[in-house]
Amino acid sequence: MTEDIEKLGHWTGSTCPFCGKPKHLAGTLRSDNPPPSPNDAAICISCGNWAIFTERLELRKPTIAELVELSENEDVQRATEIWKTMDREMRRRH
Ligand SMILES: [Zn+2]
Repeated sequence: MTEDIEKLGHWTGSTCPFCGKPKHLAGTLRSDNPPPSPNDAAICISCGNWAIFTERLELRKPTIAELVELSENEDVQRATEIWKTMDREMRRRH
C-alpha cells in the first residue's frame, strides 16, 4: 500500500498547515511524475488533508473554491481512498 501511494507523487519536506507534520506526498498524478510546482496539491500522510504548494513550495490550506475543485478531481479521490486504506492498516497494526 505504501508503494501504491509513493507511485502517486514525490515526498516533500514541507510542513502540513493542518497538523504540522513534515512529511507529504505531492500529488501531481501525471504519468511523467514531475516534482511539485506551485499550485500543485499534496495529501498529508499524517492527517489526510489536502494542501496547496505556494510559489516557494511551502504548503498552505486550500481555499473553499480549491477544496471544491479537489473534491471533484478523480486523482485526488483515488489518492484519498488509498490514504484511507493505508491509515486503517496503520491503525490496525498499532
Ligand atoms: Zn497533516
